[in-house]
Amino acid sequence: MNEQLLRAIEGRRDDLVALTADLIRFPTVNPPGEAYTPCAEFIAARLRRRRFETRLIRGEDTPGDNDRYPRTNVVARFDGRVPGRTVHFNSHIDVVEAGEGWTVDPFGGLVRDGRVWGRGACDMKGGLAASIIAAEAFMDVYPDFPGAIEISGTVDEESGGFGGVAYLAGQGFFSKPRVDHVVIPEPLNKDRICLGHRGVWWAEIETRGAIAHGSMPFLGDSAIRHMGAVLSAFEEELYPALDRKRTQMPVVPEGARRSTMNINSIHGGQTEDFFPGLPAPNVADSCRLVIDRRFLLEESLDTVKQEVVSILDRLKRERPKFDYAIRDLMEVLPTMTDRDAPVVEAVAHGIRAIFGREPDYVISPGTYDQKHIARIGHLHDCIAYGPGILDLAHRPDEWVGIDDMIESAKVMAIGLDVLLRGAAA
Ligand SMILES: [Zn+2]
Repeated sequence: MNEQLLRAIEGRRDDLVALTADLIRFPTVNPPGEAYTPCAEFIAARLRRRRFETRLIRGEDTPGDNDRYPRTNVVARFDGRVPGRTVHFNSHIDVVEAGEGWTVDPFGGLVRDGRVWGRGACDMKGGLAASIIAAEAFMDVYPDFPGAIEISGTVDEESGGFGGVAYLAGQGFFSKPRVDHVVIPEPLNKDRICLGHRGVWWAEIETRGAIAHGSMPFLGDSAIRHMGAVLSAFEEELYPALDRKRTQMPVVPEGARRSTMNINSIHGGQTEDFFPGLPAPNVADSCRLVIDRRFLLEESLDTVKQEVVSILDRLKRERPKFDYAIRDLMEVLPTMTDRDAPVVEAVAHGIRAIFGREPDYVISPGTYDQKHIARIGHLHDCIAYGPGILDLAHRPDEWVGIDDMIESAKVMAIGLDVLLRGAAA
């Protein structure tokens, strides 16, 4: 094991803690996209001191981008003395709102009990700080290393990543030959490698009817009752069918190792705003439902859609006056990096070295920025690996363990050693 590299990380413990706390103190809440520019500038200033070339890149005209809330990303690159491969660490700097129930200041950067506390501590400013420390330690121990290291802090992951990784991928920042390997330090736990995620299809279904007075509903046609028929068919046919579809993808938690569908919202009838709580006595002429279908590598998006459409078409044939419209809202294909991909093997080597055990290989039930790197950047040597416990993300009193950050920084540094210097994996 490379003792010198590991000592270099240990020696940066205070720096790692201070950096994490400093990052938490930028309240980069999304929406609306608060404090992105000062946070990106802070990261750039730190890396410039380490002779990284840094660029601030605004996701122009992406959702939410305006002069008050610019979508400011930072991309930093350090080229070694000889050409070689490029390893990129990508972290999102945005966090979700603090919400209620905190016993500490969510943006105070409190350090206590071996943990750093605050919104974004685990998701994912702790991971960003660990990757910076890993890179800096590696560069100090091996000043002549071949290849290049990139570190980015990107925005809007929590709202789809359009002004962040998707925008940068569209500009070529996540493609060969510029970049070869990507690590996203999301909080998947220090001894697990996340290979990818399930697919997503969001769609809006609308049923239509005819408006009439609520005292004489037989004169109209209720869109809500038509939607009720859709929901019954989902309960009787679709949900049991989805439950039966199991996947070979190692999704965690295990309950997500199959197809799932949530109903995100349902709206029908007239507004209740006019008389609070008292909608007008009308038969509803429209009802809208948004479904959130998560699908598996074993399924095609066409089949996923067809299952829903065939139920709607059958209702149209069998149920008098039933009519519907369906509209796609979001489509993300499932992705899973091969276990023998270089970045997977390099990080697995680091986990074996630090923890003396095989890594767990997992798949995320939901998506994250890897989707854009795969689809827009066409780069498939990409994983999520970082400190922190996913269950703490987005909750009150979020924290990240200092030892966990140190250990995962060691794993990342060993990964760099394998990928750039060809240390034996
Ligand atoms: Zn995250």
